Amino acid sequence: MKHTLPQHVQQLQPYQPIQGMYDIRLDANESYFRLKSAQLHKIQDLMAVVPFNRYPDPYATTVCKKFATMHRIDPDSVVAGNGSDELIGLLASVFFGKQDKVAVFEHDFSMYRLYMETFGVNCVTLPKRADLTIDVDQTIQAVQDQQISALLFSNPCNPTSLGLNRDDVLKLIQSVDALVIVDEAYMDFWDQSILDIADQYENLIVLKTCSKAIGLAGIRLGFAISNQQYIQAFKATKAPYNLNQMTQLIAEVILSDPDYLEQTKDILVAGTRALYADLCDLADEYPFIEQVYPTCTNFVFMKVVKAKELQDALLDASIAVRVMGDYLRITCGNPEENQQLIQTLSQIFKESV
Ligand SMILES: *Cc1c(COP(=O)(O)O)cnc(C)c1O
Repeated sequence: MKHTLPQHVQQLQPYQPIQGMYDIRLDANESYFRLKSAQLHKIQDLMAVVPFNRYPDPYATTVCKKFATMHRIDPDSVVAGNGSDELIGLLASVFFGKQDKVAVFEHDFSMYRLYMETFGVNCVTLPKRADLTIDVDQTIQAVQDQQISALLFSNPCNPTSLGLNRDDVLKLIQSVDALVIVDEAYMDFWDQSILDIADQYENLIVLKTCSKAIGLAGIRLGFAISNQQYIQAFKATKAPYNLNQMTQLIAEVILSDPDYLEQTKDILVAGTRALYADLCDLADEYPFIEQVYPTCTNFVFMKVVKAKELQDALLDASIAVRVMGDYLRITCGNPEENQQLIQTLSQIFKESV
């Protein structure tokens, strides 16, 4: 046959989230809130009049406007993607050439490197401090010394749940001769966003998602916010009808309800704080938990002894969490789910002593 897959594609593996039926899902950082029945009815009413035989709005204009209004930013600085995943994929596939070097941090969202590798982009790793925080001065130095063309990181970070404050992020953007892409997937849970100035820099792109605090992982919707040059590039290279009609319709309803979003976010933040405190108490009691990291997201990251075994023991109790090397990442569930997790963990530890 005249065709062989490129070598680097042959070696790629499909993404494998935890599959199977588990009673308690604390592994994907989703919101545990389901839509209210009033919201579902509104969606149903709108569905009845949507012309599904027609293509959707290619630029999801109404959705982008609602998002911009919610964050008090210019709608022209926003482009919508089929999940921020699509936008990260676009970045990797069309924003870089052979001469470019893209930097990601060790202990950050694994999809960044995966997308870069998929599209053959040269991707280097920058270290974080031993405590998993970002050393801004050292990072600036590394970006300049290694002639890096772009730096991509999540803030707050998935998986560490640690955040870099706004002043440090601004210093980073202003001090490097490189494009800085800040993924604020979890910034709804913290207060150090730079979204308001995302279109004011020549070298900045901010990413947002509706999959976490907004509670719409199922509809696949994310945003990039930047200056006109980059927004234009996203618009020109994305699939023309990347956001399907259902996604646009549902987003229009939910993004019109900022009070609801504020309320659910506050509950998730309080729940995560309580989960963090309970895990710290467990860590005091049992040496199996070596360290619980402070959290500015809707999940808790902790270093444990025998992480894989612990994850398996939790799976046996029908509780799914993420394992990453020596660490567990646990999403905040509803109060009953969190309590079930804490009880199961202490049971496991008791039996292991
Ligand atoms: C969950 C997550 C996303 C969201 O991806 P979507 O494709 O919008 O669901 C993006 N970045 C980070 C760091 C995440 O954890």
